[in-house]
Amino acid sequence: MMTKGTMSKKTLKTLIEKGSIVTPGGVIEQGDVLIEGERIVAVGTDLRKTIEKHDEVTFISAEDKIVLPGGVDAHTHLDMPLEDFSSADDFKTGTIAAALGGTTSIVDYAEIGPSSMQEGFSTWMEKAHGRAVIDYGFHMTVKRCDPQILREMSQMVNQGVTSFKVFTAYPGRMMLSDENILRVMKRAAELNALVVVHAEDGELIEELINRKKRAKSLDPIDHALTRPSAGECRAVRRIVEMAEIAGARVVIAHISALQAADVVREAKKKGVKVYGETCPQYLWLEQNRLKAPGIQGAAFICSPPLRDITHLNALWEGLANGWIDILSTDHCPFNIKGQKDLGVLSNGGFDFTKVPGGLPGVQTRFLLAYAGGVLAERFDLVRLAEITATIPAKVFGLAPRKGALTPGADADIIILNPGETTSFDAVDLSSNLDYSPYEGMRMEGLVETVFSRGECIVSDARFIGEAGRGKFIPRHIDKGAEDNRVNN
Ligand SMILES: [Zn+2]
Repeated sequence: MMTKGTMSKKTLKTLIEKGSIVTPGGVIEQGDVLIEGERIVAVGTDLRKTIEKHDEVTFISAEDKIVLPGGVDAHTHLDMPLEDFSSADDFKTGTIAAALGGTTSIVDYAEIGPSSMQEGFSTWMEKAHGRAVIDYGFHMTVKRCDPQILREMSQMVNQGVTSFKVFTAYPGRMMLSDENILRVMKRAAELNALVVVHAEDGELIEELINRKKRAKSLDPIDHALTRPSAGECRAVRRIVEMAEIAGARVVIAHISALQAADVVREAKKKGVKVYGETCPQYLWLEQNRLKAPGIQGAAFICSPPLRDITHLNALWEGLANGWIDILSTDHCPFNIKGQKDLGVLSNGGFDFTKVPGGLPGVQTRFLLAYAGGVLAERFDLVRLAEITATIPAKVFGLAPRKGALTPGADADIIILNPGETTSFDAVDLSSNLDYSPYEGMRMEGLVETVFSRGECIVSDARFIGEAGRGKFIPRHIDKGAEDNRVNN
């Protein structure tokens, strides 16, 4: 019979052994990660020695495999309402897709409710509750600005919603005036909170759209032509100037243009607290995809739009050299049928203004970064972990629990098998979506195993977790997380 004493000594442990362990300090070859309960307790070599005979241990071989921190995707739109419908993935389908792609935390965009921010926050908490399979946090989108909203920002921060998004685009819907953006920035600076900005020049875009309407030229490619890279750059420059005036920490969301990345680089050198975010679609997909007729082109409509190869190369360079810090997805999927096809007119023509903008990406981020970054020798495995996990966790206040393989952190871990490949065809992806922007692509590598807080939720590349197991993670304020370094 077991005594109470021996029972309490018995601990459930998992030992991941003999892999290439990607830590913030470098890659440990033939290394191990020891998990106890929900946490990582040791990272090193020969950890089998530390196992005591009464421990109950699951051994997982990572031989010839790469062990990385679970991904932090700081930009998703799950179950996001847009006019009569919502984005195609809810918190269950979207987070299962994320987990299969090696992401173990998301920060989704909640929106202000009709009467208050608090109401919006509650609505998004309900959307995630019982559905999310990985951990999650929320940003708050500030689409109107008044004294109540500014007051409520501190209430949000106290509940772990520590970043606020403003738009310089979509006049009449999301856009704030510069005056109001400055107010939000000042308030955020007082609270040490972050401001995330969708930076495109909304007024300029409206004028270009009106011109296209008059010319009856509204094909998918025209959407991109109304949102030029120079306009994005102009908005980013304004935001950086305002951030400097307000003393606020800002993240430029989804940078797609090389001139915008240049502005961020120069601002960082001047000491402005600005971080750059980009997304895989801006690194992998060229603007000519939008030249396909009708719905085939419409499948690629997103804002900012896809750009040409010069921009793609510059963004890879930015990720490698540190003026772009964060790789998120802006996962905002809409089906072709019933959503993207709203642009098809009864006379056979097309109207891009009727098409919901957004691309999926929550499942494909990690392998796209691995292929284009590590395999293409643009950066190493440590930088891959930084842009997909470590830096977003620090900047958005999830560290040290999330984002790195270090003792004490949550055991959010992915095991990558570099010897296998993964199909990115719609039929092989888990998203609730009828197309894939990466159709026909087979990527190097397979996300074979995923742990979330010590629980194996992906095994043999299949999801085995339970809906609702994900937890809301209140994010903290960390004004010391100044990780916006530039290498050259
Ligand atoms: Zn977005």
